[in-house]
Amino acid sequence: MMLNDSVAIVTGSGRGIGRAIALELAGAGAKVVINYAGRSDKAEETVQLIRAAGGESLAVQADVSQASDVDRLIRTTLDQFGKIDILVNNAGITRDSLLLRMKEADWDTVLATNLKGVFLCTKAVSKGMLKQRSGVIVNISSVVGLSGNAGQANYAAAKAGVIGFSKSIAKEFASRGIRVNVVAPGYIITDMTETLSDGVQSDVLSAIPLGRLGKPEDVAKAVRFLVSPEASYITGQIFCVDGGMDI
Ligand code: NAP
Repeated sequence: MMLNDSVAIVTGSGRGIGRAIALELAGAGAKVVINYAGRSDKAEETVQLIRAAGGESLAVQADVSQASDVDRLIRTTLDQFGKIDILVNNAGITRDSLLLRMKEADWDTVLATNLKGVFLCTKAVSKGMLKQRSGVIVNISSVVGLSGNAGQANYAAAKAGVIGFSKSIAKEFASRGIRVNVVAPGYIITDMTETLSDGVQSDVLSAIPLGRLGKPEDVAKAVRFLVSPEASYITGQIFCVDGGMDI
């Protein structure tokens, strides 16, 4: 149990990749706070899955783009578990369209959740981590943040921003015992991607050297490694979990 006695917050972990990360960290012994935006049913389901396996968990609604919500998320975690060792910034949304049709609101909402949310949550946990001189942060970006993608200028800009932010914070925090890394998934089967047409899905599949779409668990295992003591000499790095899409 590599993460025994650790306390983790995983944003956007009621479903999808976040849920898989939460289950993986709980399976390794961490107490995990399940953050969600609106789907309390899914968040409670995740909490029950962790408890049924003998772990400790709690669901907290908070919009990561709102500073007051994030402060409440951190306060609730500290009240319940006393400290925060691990933050996984996973919450994310898409509002896809080609640039000429992209509404200003689509730009603002995606940047607010996917980039400002990472800033707010990281800043909020960093105070305690700096004081305890330890902590691990993993930010979920996307291969699209490295390569760009037609129809996702807002999303790609936010995900590229997450990479620049993470590398900067890794440099700021390294001397205080805090590591920061990025996981960049490729195409993972979740609610976010299942609405894509069969045509788009088969185009994506043909661009994946390992010949299959990703599962949330593929991402979760990489995150579990990065937050574990086994990765204690790794910071400021980007790990693509994409079946080779970025090669
Ligand atoms: P998903 O199935 O759509 O789940 C998104 C999660 O984020 C949900 O739990 C949702 O909460 C939460 N969320 C959304 N906005 C939020 C907000 N403002 N505050 C707090 N929580 C919020 O997405 P996913 O596919 O698992 O994606 C997870 C992360 O991986 C995202 O950052 C995404 O960009 C990234 N990613 C995904 C893929 C992929 O192929 N799926 C590829 C690359 C990167 P509710 O359940 O309450 O709505």
